[in-house]
Amino acid sequence: MRLYTYREQPDGIDRIGVELVPGSLYALQDFGMQFADMNDLICHITPEQMDKLRTAPQNAVPIPLDRVCCRAPIPHPMQDVVCLGINYAAHYKEAGRFDKEAFGDRPKAIYFSKRVNEANWDGGTIPLYDGLVDSLDYEVELGVILGKDAWNVPAERAQEYIFGYTIINDVSARNLQTGHKQWYFGKSLDGYTPIGPCIVTADEIAYPPVLGIRCSVNGQLRQNGSTGDLITTISEIIAELSRGMMLKAGTIIATGTPAGVGMGMQPPCFLQAGDVVTCEIDKIGTLTNVVGNS
Ligand code: MG
Repeated sequence: MRLYTYREQPDGIDRIGVELVPGSLYALQDFGMQFADMNDLICHITPEQMDKLRTAPQNAVPIPLDRVCCRAPIPHPMQDVVCLGINYAAHYKEAGRFDKEAFGDRPKAIYFSKRVNEANWDGGTIPLYDGLVDSLDYEVELGVILGKDAWNVPAERAQEYIFGYTIINDVSARNLQTGHKQWYFGKSLDGYTPIGPCIVTADEIAYPPVLGIRCSVNGQLRQNGSTGDLITTISEIIAELSRGMMLKAGTIIATGTPAGVGMGMQPPCFLQAGDVVTCEIDKIGTLTNVVGNS
């Protein structure tokens, strides 16, 4: 099942839609359900209600996707996004080449968080922040969304806690990331977390996900990997963190990015105004953003 958050003009109200036929959405209320937002749905939907969403409601007319404004599926994450740094081997090499002190020699998983006041969306603009950011970069990542509270979960049971998957662009200001020697600021600027276009529920993707993951800039393929190549796997992430930290339902985990980011190019090549960044993961879709002046 593919779940969207969308707006119909001109009311500006976020609604949840279910894409049962490619290119069109049934509104949640067509199924006789009401949730305040996607977080509320993730935390409170019952298995019976989930089943009900798999069949088109009678007498309801789907809305063409191109007639609505897509939002991030979770516009306001309940907490900071949990992120993995350097979680693909080839990206580890290119990042260390760019700045060994900031990125080299990390024997254990790198966890950090990303503040998201409001998630950016498919079609949204990534701000440049002239005078603050001089090295803007992209990072396509598989996003994992938890469906129930996870505490002390063994790796072999981690799959049971996953609600679904999405695409995240972990947009990064490299000068802030390396200059402050701590990644939070450079990755948490407003607009630096595009998420979307939708959530694909966990039942639709074999576990662990082995999906093509790509990012292109102005049509030029820059990143081209497989989510099967994570150094720390999704099961290991959930097991390790939940040993001493409650991962609440609705938690979003950005699992790291494959090689091919701008700082890894020789010479480094960062995003400029007008660049079009398209992140893509098989079975989920595409997430496209334009870099804008600010
Ligand atoms: Mg990242």
